[in-house]
Amino acid sequence: MRLVVAGSGIAGAIAALRAVEEGMEVTLVHHSQGASHRSLGVVDVLGYLQEEVSCPAEGVEWICRHRKEHPYAITGAEVLEEALEFFRRMAKRAGMRFMGTLEENIHVATQFGTFKPTCMALEQVYTARIEVWDGITVGIDGEPQRDYNPAFIAESLDSLLREALGVHPERVVRGEGELTLKPLSQGGERALPLLGDGRGVVEALLRVASEGGAEVRRDKIAGGSFRGGRLEELRGAGRSYKADAFVLATGDWIGGGMRGLGNLLGLDMAGSMQVRRIPLPEEGHPYALSGVRVDGRLRPLRHGEAVENLRVAGALLCGYDYCTEKSGWGVGIATGYLAGGME
Ligand SMILES: Cc1cc2nc3c(=O)[nH]c(=O)nc-3n(C[C@H](O)[C@H](O)[C@H](O)COP(=O)(O)OP(=O)(O)OC[C@H]3O[C@@H](n4cnc5c(N)ncnc54)[C@H](O)[C@@H]3O)c2cc1C
Repeated sequence: MRLVVAGSGIAGAIAALRAVEEGMEVTLVHHSQGASHRSLGVVDVLGYLQEEVSCPAEGVEWICRHRKEHPYAITGAEVLEEALEFFRRMAKRAGMRFMGTLEENIHVATQFGTFKPTCMALEQVYTARIEVWDGITVGIDGEPQRDYNPAFIAESLDSLLREALGVHPERVVRGEGELTLKPLSQGGERALPLLGDGRGVVEALLRVASEGGAEVRRDKIAGGSFRGGRLEELRGAGRSYKADAFVLATGDWIGGGMRGLGNLLGLDMAGSMQVRRIPLPEEGHPYALSGVRVDGRLRPLRHGEAVENLRVAGALLCGYDYCTEKSGWGVGIATGYLAGGME
């Protein structure tokens, strides 16, 4: 079976890897970097449901029961768990060790001098999680760079953590401590993730897909044609991609999928398609919930009818808000895995 995947973010990479494992002939087409490349490269499964979530597995169960439009309610909790194990295995094949479980969120420091909950992280990041900072001096080290100011980060975390998180480090200082953190890109064995670290993870996963036989091509998909409820081809610059099945993982406003492909293919979209200039409300911005409408098998609807041989994965889907709930890579991995394994 021939499968074409559009998009090389976390959702497209996982869909391609799964399809390669299932023995499909896979072509992955992408044209630039999306949100996954710009991200911190930690796997957020579920950080908030109004309040902070301490056990993502329980939060996801709640979503499956109460939020039928959410991608986790479509994949189900079991597929999410399987998908995260698959991701861990593929990452290992790419030389990366991801740690963490669905049973608990951890907190990681950020370059903004704040922290965020997440579920899985590279070993270097996981072993430097804020939960192990109690009672010790933590050093924020490494060379200052345009988007990394260790002195500011240390000062901010030192004043923030005790009250906000109830973790009591002896001190957080600029330089070395009993536990010393540096950016991954500066060779940190205990690392503080920076925006942009996601790129290394997705590129390593794409290399594994290539080694497994997937063809990875740079091209911008600009349209497609349908016949009898099936997608026949996706069209790039001067080339047509024909296949038995397709996965659309072209991301949202950041990846480009929402500005382009969803509409170009005439798929049914849900939510507000206007990016209105309003302040970011605490409960989330309305644009975040918009995206392509799918059925229970991730097949997009077109004029109300499911497209038989097309699946949508990742941020192009409607019904969830990864900014507010912190579920970006979790949804990308779960839906990419399901989409790449379709018969
Ligand atoms: C700044 C920032 C930081 C974040 N940090 C984290 C984090 O640390 N952890 C986390 O879990 N989540 C994080 N998120 C959310 C997360 O990054 C996204 O939810 C997730 O990466 C979306 O993945 P995706 O594969 O669906 O889309 P994307 O990663 O956006 O990928 C879309 C892909 O489609 C391609 N594409 C688009 N249009 C076309 C076309 N016409 N033809 C060919 N290719 C096309 C793009 O080139 C790109 O390769 C962050 C988001 C942002 C904005």
